[in-house]
Order: sequence, then structure tokens, then C-alpha cells
Amino acid sequence: MSKGAVGKVDTTRRDLDCPRDHTRLTERMVEGAFLDECPECRGRFFDHGEMYAALGIHADPSYWDRPEVTGSIEDAPIHCPRCDAHMSLVTLAQDADRVEIDRCGHCKGIWLDHGEAEMVMKIGKSMEPVIAKERAAAQKELDAMGEVDFNPSLLAQFLALFKK
Ligand SMILES: [Zn+2]
Ligand SMILES: [Zn+2]
Repeated sequence: MSKGAVGKVDTTRRDLDCPRDHTRLTERMVEGAFLDECPECRGRFFDHGEMYAALGIHADPSYWDRPEVTGSIEDAPIHCPRCDAHMSLVTLAQDADRVEIDRCGHCKGIWLDHGEAEMVMKIGKSMEPVIAKERAAAQKELDAMGEVDFNPSLLAQFLALFKK
């Protein structure tokens, strides 16, 4: 294991090795995103933001990286292919669906073993009603704020500017 200085993460570097079997990952273009896939175990590495780009909105962490589905977080036995930091094993669970994924706290990269992406997306999709509800509530709040055209406290602050 190399102990490079923790600093800027170079996400353009493409010579990544599989954290499981150390096979060189091959680059694959999926929906406009570059994916690094292991030809041996078919695990995939996603840089920050690539899950959404490659797999769609239900794979985006905003859908599954939520307290409702996030369970235990443990030290994973593998190192990040991108930055070599120790990865964390995060359990996601929703009803009978359950998956353990490896995340890097340093570069925010995500390693998915073969088949895990489908489960992450399934869990993400199940969060859709919760997220829709939250959005509606936020929108309502915004609308209500728009109706306030007179704010007594702001007016008081404004008038105070002229007091010496
Ligand atoms: Zn592999
Ligand atoms: Zn990393």
C-alpha cells in the first residue's frame, strides 16, 4: 500500500486497480460517464457524481444516502482505487432490500461489487415518495415566504440605519 500525501484527488487518472483482486480496471463509457469496471469480478468504481450520470437519479446519493436507509458503517477491508484511503462499509436497508456498499470518505468514490448497483437503485427508488413529500413541503414554505411582503423586523433594521 502506498502512502501518498492526502491532498487533491486526481479523478482523471485511469490506471485504477480493483480493490478486491487487484486486476487493472477497464474504462467503460456509460451514458456519458466513464466507469471503471473490473474485468475479473465485474465490480465498478464510481467517482463522486458518476452514479447519477451513469445510472440515473435513483442511484444518486441524494436518494439513498439518507438516515431512513443508512444502517451501520464499518471499516471496510479494502482501499479506495482512486486515492488509496481506507473505505467504509455502509449498510443500506429498506424493508427486505439490503446491500452493503464501500464508500471512500476522502474522495467520495464508491465501489460497487457486481449486482450491488441494482439494489442501490431499488432502495433509491423506494425513497421516491419520501423525497417527493419533502420537496412539496419545501415548496410550500417557499411559496408562503413569497407572500410575505411586509417584514416588521426588516423595516425596524432599515429605520435603525438612520438613527444616530
Ligand atoms: Zn475485481
Ligand atoms: Zn478515495
